[in-house]
Amino acid sequence: MDPFADTLGRLRETFRSGRTRTVEFRVSQLEALGRFLRENKTLLQEALARDLHKSAFESEVSEISISEVEIKRALRNLRAWMKDEKVPRNLATQLDSAFIRKEPFGLVLIIAPWNYPINLTLVPLVGALAAGNCVVLKPSEISKSVEKVLAEELPRYLDQNCFAVVLGGPEETGQLLENKFDYIFFTGSPRVGKVVMAAAAKHLTPLTLELGGKNPCYVDNDCDPQTVANRVVFFRYFNAGQTCVAPDYVLCSRETQERLLPAMQSAITQFYGEDPKASPDLGRIVGEKQFRRLQGLLRCGRVAIGGQSDETERYIAPTVLVDVQETEPVMQEEIFGPILPLVTVRGLDEAVDFITRREKPLALYAFSNNSQVVKRVMAATSSGGFCSNDGFMHMTLETLPFGGVGASGMGSYHGKFSFDTFSHHRACLLRGPGLEKIYAIRYPPYTPSKLRLLLLAMRTRCCSCTLL
Ligand code: NAD
Repeated sequence: MDPFADTLGRLRETFRSGRTRTVEFRVSQLEALGRFLRENKTLLQEALARDLHKSAFESEVSEISISEVEIKRALRNLRAWMKDEKVPRNLATQLDSAFIRKEPFGLVLIIAPWNYPINLTLVPLVGALAAGNCVVLKPSEISKSVEKVLAEELPRYLDQNCFAVVLGGPEETGQLLENKFDYIFFTGSPRVGKVVMAAAAKHLTPLTLELGGKNPCYVDNDCDPQTVANRVVFFRYFNAGQTCVAPDYVLCSRETQERLLPAMQSAITQFYGEDPKASPDLGRIVGEKQFRRLQGLLRCGRVAIGGQSDETERYIAPTVLVDVQETEPVMQEEIFGPILPLVTVRGLDEAVDFITRREKPLALYAFSNNSQVVKRVMAATSSGGFCSNDGFMHMTLETLPFGGVGASGMGSYHGKFSFDTFSHHRACLLRGPGLEKIYAIRYPPYTPSKLRLLLLAMRTRCCSCTLL
């Protein structure tokens, strides 16, 4: 017995009716999503505080307002995004109309993680609804309070014949994935990404994988240590380090390490006070399992800053590790917590070698006063995104695609990229029934002159054509 059969059947039926395709319907759903955020803001902020001790500031910046902006952007641009895209034609199709039509895939599954449990469910949802799909949303079971709000409140706003929230952990999601979807959008770990991709392969379902990994952060000798420390500390300890694009480790010379350490200590004290545990601005680890894994990582290398932890509160102090070996767990797995190892290298060449020997990361950072150094790091490496002299600011721009490469994922979204991700780009050529005499040059019996004419007609773009 498939527990999801009724829900999925209902959504498929609605999609087949064509109701989700009209611009009016898409607008109504996006507006309803906006209302959900406005009317449940306090509930959502409280849920984020319970799950992750997320401050109202971080909740607003990285969860709620980012989703609201995405909705407003989609509403503002929807008609333009939906328009058929005219394309240049060759001589053979000059009298036809050629365009790309953006069509919804149909039934879309969105699977989300717990670290930004509103942003990473609603931002993909905006793209899926804007593109005219029916959607099954599977929030993370680990961020329980947010999951509850999404399950209880969100369906009251969206059309329940087109949208459903499905709850559960690995087992239920595995069962859900046995069903056929028309598109899957997964955000989570590379390990589960492989499970999802294997399930999608059974139905030949296209998918986006937004995964994680270890994001390197190269710090050149030519830099102002306090500026670098402020920025690295802010982006590493934001959301208690539970951010897929956070700098995962720093690569620098021993000399730069010695200058960075006091600057980092000073930044941590300035941001979170003498006792970071008492700071209302520092998050907590989401669950016991994640807490214990991070506690284990504190034993790698040598603690230079922080290192304290308290299981009753799932608190881990903003920590910096030094003298870390490449073979230690902290350099083998994505850290995903408030721990930052500094790894020393002799110079830029060794740093580039270190980065390129590993899987391609989701984000890569390079700090230097010398723009040539930044350009060199960018040219010699590959990553989903890149930002110089700062943390994950690149992902705040919806004009840039957000996504990974290689082991950090495939596909991208945000802004129009989301709309395009959730749309099939249908190649359309509209030709009339006439002109049979001209088109007859294609038909057998084949002759060398017919071949010459046909090849010419297929190659020549009408705009550059001098024959007509
Ligand atoms: P996860 O892979 O454990 O879980 C993600 C989702 O998959 C959850 O909804 C979970 O219920 C489901 N799931 C878990 N095990 C499953 C299984 N065996 N079969 C089917 N579904 C399963 O990830 P997480 O711990 O929630 O999040 C942390 C990871 O997500 C990190 O690796 C992080 O880098 C990554 N992440 C990536 C991005 C991005 O945008 N690229 C954003 C946030 C987090």
